[in-house]
Amino acid sequence: AQERYASIRDKPAETVCGTRISLLMNAGLMADLPSLDGSGAEGVGLFRTELQFLIRNHMPKRAELSELYARVMDAAQGKRVTFRTLDIGSDKVLPYMTATDEPNPALGWRAVRVGLDKPGVMRMQLQALIRAANGRPLSVMFPFVAQREEFTAARAEMEKALERERILGHNLPSTLEVGAMLETPSLAFAPDSFYREVDFLSIGGNDLKQFFFAADRENELVRKRYDTLNVSFLTFLEGIVDRCNRLETPLSFCGEDAGRPVEAACMAAIGLRSLSMRPASIGPVKSILRRTDLGELREVIHEAREAGVQSVRPQVMEYLRGKL
Ligand code: PEP
Ligand code: MG
Repeated sequence: AQERYASIRDKPAETVCGTRISLLMNAGLMADLPSLDGSGAEGVGLFRTELQFLIRNHMPKRAELSELYARVMDAAQGKRVTFRTLDIGSDKVLPYMTATDEPNPALGWRAVRVGLDKPGVMRMQLQALIRAANGRPLSVMFPFVAQREEFTAARAEMEKALERERILGHNLPSTLEVGAMLETPSLAFAPDSFYREVDFLSIGGNDLKQFFFAADRENELVRKRYDTLNVSFLTFLEGIVDRCNRLETPLSFCGEDAGRPVEAACMAAIGLRSLSMRPASIGPVKSILRRTDLGELREVIHEAREAGVQSVRPQVMEYLRGKL
């Protein structure tokens, strides 16, 4: 199988019906960077910046971060890297920050909520990113945005950081894209103006699924209870895809499901065109996409749904048999 993947490494993820799917990789550690070349990824769709905070026992300094982000961009050699600002709280607690004692950390003070309430660290991070870009393109997204106002406020922080850097005489990014992660069902139903305001959206399927089904992603008792190919979830995802198509909002998916070949094929069938996954998944996902006719798969999903199934997985597996 490894050889099969190696042989398609430099080929595009193009389906039988001729649709190109963009395959990107998730990263967070410097050790991930060589995979950018090795995996055939078109770029980094999700750079989890919190990992660099979690592996230290002190708050990293701005200069340290900026040097690190610059190395990531250097390694990407012009491929797009989307940096996600600090996603802490919930299961990710920094040892050097005062822990909050919350009854439901997953629903608590986390990610962009912390960044907006205590903006010091987020500001430092945005400055470090601008300096790292040093005149190159920059792509940043904010995690766990639940309503438009949070995005607007976070983006305003980015504007302020740009202004500060400009005054200090630093090179500004040649292009800047600021997006949001869609990880809460509420954001899917945000007003059209939100979809127009963001430069792009990235579905954080791990969190989105846990909140959609109200099933803790960390809890073994319920974690696998609800299938990603459950028709309710697929219908929900389709709604997001349709909305993004109508409002011309670039959309990608960066949860773990993007790296599962069967799930990835279904996402492509319902209209997703950009998937970000762990590097080792790129080969298997590309392989199945290159053997799949999205129109046929769409029809399989449609018929299963019409038949009233709870999950379309059995029918999809039957169709994909031999292609995996
Ligand atoms: C997600 O929630 O799907 C996601 C990509 O972010 P994380 O897994 O880091 O929460
Ligand atoms: Mg998440």
